[in-house]
Amino acid sequence: MSVIVFLCGSLRPLRFNAFYRKVRKGIHAEVRREIESKENLIILAPLNFLFMKTVNDINFKGKRALIRVDFNVPLDKSFNVTDDNRIRATIPTLKKILADGGSLILMSHLGRPKEGPEGKYSLKHTIKTTEQLLGVPVKFASDCIGEEAFELSAALKPGEVLLLENLRFYNQEEKGDLAFAEKLSKHGDIYVNDAFGTAHRAHASTTIVAQFFKEKCAGYVMAAELDNAKKVIEKAAKPFTAIMGGAKISDKILIIEKLLDKVDHLIIGGGMSYTFFKALGGQIGKSLVEEDKLGLAKELIQKAKSKGVELHLPMDSIIADAFDANANTDISLNNGIKADWMGLDIGPQAREVFAKVIEDSKTILWNGPMGVFEMEKFEKGTKAVAEAVVRATGKGAFSLIGGGDSAAAVAKFGFEEKVSYVSTGGGALLEYFEGKVLPGVKALE
Ligand code: ATP
Repeated sequence: MSVIVFLCGSLRPLRFNAFYRKVRKGIHAEVRREIESKENLIILAPLNFLFMKTVNDINFKGKRALIRVDFNVPLDKSFNVTDDNRIRATIPTLKKILADGGSLILMSHLGRPKEGPEGKYSLKHTIKTTEQLLGVPVKFASDCIGEEAFELSAALKPGEVLLLENLRFYNQEEKGDLAFAEKLSKHGDIYVNDAFGTAHRAHASTTIVAQFFKEKCAGYVMAAELDNAKKVIEKAAKPFTAIMGGAKISDKILIIEKLLDKVDHLIIGGGMSYTFFKALGGQIGKSLVEEDKLGLAKELIQKAKSKGVELHLPMDSIIADAFDANANTDISLNNGIKADWMGLDIGPQAREVFAKVIEDSKTILWNGPMGVFEMEKFEKGTKAVAEAVVRATGKGAFSLIGGGDSAAAVAKFGFEEKVSYVSTGGGALLEYFEGKVLPGVKALE
C-alpha cells in the first residue's frame, strides 16, 4: 500500500478511485506521474495543491498568454536596468510558451507611481533587457488598457511578444478593481502568474484577473518558489535551523512564532538581537532597540525554551562610535556595550558559534543580515553566516535564502550558486511561512 501525503490546507482521506479519475486532468503532471506509478493508493491530500497547474500542463499553441511578471527592477539615472535578475528568472516560462507556438502579453508594475503615469516608472525602460534575454523583439503598449493595447494584443501572432505599460499607472490595480481586471483579461486566452513576489497582494493583475479565465496556471518561478518553500516548511530534514536577522523584530514576530513549532535551532542576529539583550537586562549602548517589544522578546525566549528550541543570540558584537562606514570600531560583549557606542555586526565569538550550528544543520532558512553588511567594516558576521550556509549546502543540507537583504548579501559575496535556493519574494515568502493564504496563489487553484 502506498500513501502520498501533502501537508497543506485541510487534510482528508480520499480513496483512489472514481474521485481520482475525475480530478486527473487538473493534477500537476509530475504528481500525476508519481500517483500513476503506484498501486492501491490512498490519497491524503488537500485538493488545492493538486489543482494548481503550471505552464508544463498546458499547450499554448495558437493561444495568447496574459502573463503577470515581476519586472519591478532597479534602474540607474539613465533608466538602464542595473539588476536584471527578476527579468532573467522568468525567461524560461516565456520561452516555454513561445516554443509551444503561443504569444505573450506581459504585464507588471514598476516602482510606486503616485497618481497616474510617470516617465521614470515606464516599463519601456525594460524592453531592451527583455529583448536581449529573450532573443525576440518586444512590442510595447503605452497604456495597459488603452485602445492601442487591445489592437496590439488582438493582432499578436504566435511567437510574438507585447509588453503592457506599468499597471500601477492606474490606481485600480492596487485596489484590486474588478472592472479593471476584467479589461486586462481581454488581452489573453490563458492567464499565467509568474510573479511570486506580489502573490501576497490581492491586486487586479495578481489575483482578481484570474477569475475571468478558464485556463490559468503558475509559471516556473511561481512553482519553484512554492516547491522550495514547501520543502522547508513541510519536509524539513532535521536538524532544522532558522536564521533571523535584519533591523527590526517587529517585522518578523509572526514568522518567528510560527518557526518555533518547526525548528531545532533559532539563530537571531542583526539589529533585532539588541532588543533581546535589553530585555534580559543588558547594557546595549546606542544599539538599535524597540522599547515596546521588550516584553515580546522575553516571551519569545520563554516560548523557545518551552518548545525545546535552542535559541542562539550573539554573545558579542562589532561596535562602532557612529553609524558610519568610517566609524571607530571595537569588540564588545553584548550585555555590556559602552554607553555612546552601538552594535553594528555580530562579533567573532558569535560568528564561530553560529557557523558551527549552521554547519551541523540539514535544513536552513535564512532571512535578514547579521549586521550592516552594506558597510565593509560590518559585513564579517553576514559573510561568516553565508559561508557556513554554503559549507552546509555542500554537505547536503537544503538552504533557502529569503528576503531582499539576505538575498542581496548572498549575491554580494558571490554565493548565489552555492546555496540551494534564493527566493525572489521577500514579503510573499514571509507571509507564506507565517501560514497566511497568498491570494495570488489561491487564485490559480
Ligand atoms: P527585506 O525586508 O528587504 O526583505 P530583510 O528581511 O533581509 O530585507 P531587513 O529587516 O529589511 O532585512 O533589515 C535589513 C537591514 O538591517 C540592512 O539594511 C542592515 O544594514 C540593517 N541592520 C542589520 N543589523 C543592524 C544593526 N545591528 N544595526 C542597524 N541596522 C542593522
